[in-house]
Amino acid sequence: MAEAHFDRGDLPHDVKIDLTNCDREPIHIPGQIRAHGVLLALGASDLTVLQASDNTETYLGIPTLALLGRPLEALLSAENLAALHRSIREDHLENNPLYLFTGLVCGHGPFHAIGHVRAGLFLLELERVASELTQPDFYDMLKRSVARFQRATSVIDFCELVTEEVRRVSGYDRVMLYRFGRDWSGHVIAESMTKDKGLSPYLDLHYPASDIPSQARALFLLNTIRMLPDARYVRSQIIPEINPRTGQPLDMTFAFLRGTSQMYTEYLLNMGVNASLTIAITKDDRLWGLIACHHYSTRQIPYDVRTACEFLARVVSMQIADKQLHDESGYRARISEVHEGLVRSLAKHDDLADALVDCKPNLLELFDCGGAAVFSRGICHLVGKTPGEPALRALVEWLRQNRGIDVFATDCLPSLYPAADKFKDTASGILVLPLSKAHGDYILWMRPELLQTVRWAGDPSKPMEVGPMGDRLTPRKSFALWQDTVRGHCAAWLDLEMEAVRKLRVSMMDVLQHRGEALASVNLELSRSNAELDSFAYVASHDLKEPLRGIYNYANFLLVDCEEKFEPEDREKVETIVRLTKRMQALIDSLLHFSRLGRGPLDPEPVDLNVAVHDALESIDTRLRETGAQVSIPRLLPVVRADRVGLQEIFINLLSNALKYNDKANKLVEVGYLLRGEPGFPSRAQNSARCFYVKDNGIGIGPEYREEVFRIFRRLHQKSEYGGGTGAGLTIVRKVVQRHGGEVWCDSREGEGTTFYFTLEASE
Ligand code: ATP
Ligand code: MG
Repeated sequence: MAEAHFDRGDLPHDVKIDLTNCDREPIHIPGQIRAHGVLLALGASDLTVLQASDNTETYLGIPTLALLGRPLEALLSAENLAALHRSIREDHLENNPLYLFTGLVCGHGPFHAIGHVRAGLFLLELERVASELTQPDFYDMLKRSVARFQRATSVIDFCELVTEEVRRVSGYDRVMLYRFGRDWSGHVIAESMTKDKGLSPYLDLHYPASDIPSQARALFLLNTIRMLPDARYVRSQIIPEINPRTGQPLDMTFAFLRGTSQMYTEYLLNMGVNASLTIAITKDDRLWGLIACHHYSTRQIPYDVRTACEFLARVVSMQIADKQLHDESGYRARISEVHEGLVRSLAKHDDLADALVDCKPNLLELFDCGGAAVFSRGICHLVGKTPGEPALRALVEWLRQNRGIDVFATDCLPSLYPAADKFKDTASGILVLPLSKAHGDYILWMRPELLQTVRWAGDPSKPMEVGPMGDRLTPRKSFALWQDTVRGHCAAWLDLEMEAVRKLRVSMMDVLQHRGEALASVNLELSRSNAELDSFAYVASHDLKEPLRGIYNYANFLLVDCEEKFEPEDREKVETIVRLTKRMQALIDSLLHFSRLGRGPLDPEPVDLNVAVHDALESIDTRLRETGAQVSIPRLLPVVRADRVGLQEIFINLLSNALKYNDKANKLVEVGYLLRGEPGFPSRAQNSARCFYVKDNGIGIGPEYREEVFRIFRRLHQKSEYGGGTGAGLTIVRKVVQRHGGEVWCDSREGEGTTFYFTLEASE
């Protein structure tokens, strides 16, 4: 994997490997270097050798101990020494390794000499010049790479190009680009590899954050490129281990030759990799990713090729922000387009679910997510892949109890709400927009478990190959470890998604406020015209009564006085006048009664419903006895605050209807109530704590008439059928219920019976 993996200095074999403990390893002072060069630590002021790697005899022909205490000028040619002094004078070498010269040292080499100053010491690194020839058209090559980068529009396209270009420039067999997640776990997002070695892809491989411990990441920020030409290299110790001037082990934070950990090389060897090059990509001074190059034989690339790769990585670091912004702005644009669509639908539709779920675009399209749900007025609407409704209802109840009204997101729901473990396939994470805690109105977006969406190109069915160094450090183990850490997690919700949800809430409130204002003015208008209508109905019915009584009386006089003069058909006509005026009288009485209901003030007081029902039954006693109906009250009714006369009106009408519209020999009526949360509690009553009902086993009401029956003078039968009536009873019931702030409706099965439900919210 990347060089930083397990970069924690040599460990004896018997030390238990626990990657999560790596964070404390002092990897900047490993006490050893990679053997493809020589490191000399000199006093920064006098340039005397204070420490050296123990391979100087091989490279420079002088045993290490013999080098200690020698001045640098004894080792370099006058020309190279001059170049070095110039650099010390003119360049900024503090914590900044720079190329000094290429030439012989102690008559051996040639070497590339790279130097930097750290903690009062001058670190000179000598790297043997590789035999491979430098690309002659190097500048051209880089220019072409950079030009190609500019054409890429998305981060992924861009990263793919980067891996291709780095491979072209460096010649490694495989080049991968890892991207760090928020939790520092990694993900291979692009890969380029040679076709002719039958390599299996590592694309989409994930590994846990512990694979690259925090101090290794910190080092990568400072020292952005590391090369390991031979994973089987012999380590060279720094002699002496403690610097005689500083009294400290040598700090190799910026040293190019700094030794790697044994675990890292073990990891490489297990993959069959013999050489590697790792380059850091940074964004806003933070490690964004790594370019990791692998080679399946030993490989040392020349200094200038390496510098070219480093240059490419710098270009990548500079451009990545741009590409990411581009990706993000694409997503942002989509979100805002869907947002506008949703707001348009919200303005058009009264029902939330109609607007957000059934219209195009819908909630699901707003974000990259698996499913969404709207809870509104007790009804649940689902779209996409979601857990079942009962599970979601329980989740919403939990949200009601445990969360505030702020937008809330989690990418690991089971850790907060263990019951979510059962549906983590569809909702390991949720983004929640609470609309009304009191009514349980919520909008939820859901994301599936990350593992469900993850794919690793490495063939999981292939038998596990144990590397030469055992099986403990392999990509597959890393992948498995990462899988363990992300179980029950979904892809993280982005800040821009949270922002979008807040914006949606504001837009929804705007729409609702707008609608509320429109409604308020319509209501005002309506109540004004209602009041007018009421007084008109009152005046009209009151004033009509007199002339009607006159017609009735005179028609009766005619019948008596002219009895002998009338032909039989004339008599029938006058009798019809009498009958019709009687009926008209009844209609006017109902109208008058109805209009009185709307006019007077309500007089709320505590009313025991048991008494109210009892009184109502008493006043319809005759019908009760005639029909032989059985009226049951399954449990004691509560005391409510309501207008006593109004309540009486409700029960008399509902009970007498229940008896009238009943053709069964055994007529049954039930009066009762349900509390919210109890089984059978109607969803339409969701806004109320209690819902009352009068249920019969009568003739039933067809679905198309269930609203109609509340219209004044609307009867579903002939005038004389089912005991007759004016068709005003239910209109009166509705009026009284509404004046109490409640609602009345019915539910029915034709031929089997009807249940009238009502609530009395405002009065309670
Ligand atoms: P009144 O003004 O005397 O009450 P009504 O009973 O005809 O006359 P409503 O009580 O308003 O008027 O009822 C309207 C119509 O609804 C009835 O004519 C009947 O057709 C139907 N209806 C009412 N209650 C029931 C019921 N429990 N079962 C079946 N049909 C019913
Ligand atoms: Mg009636």
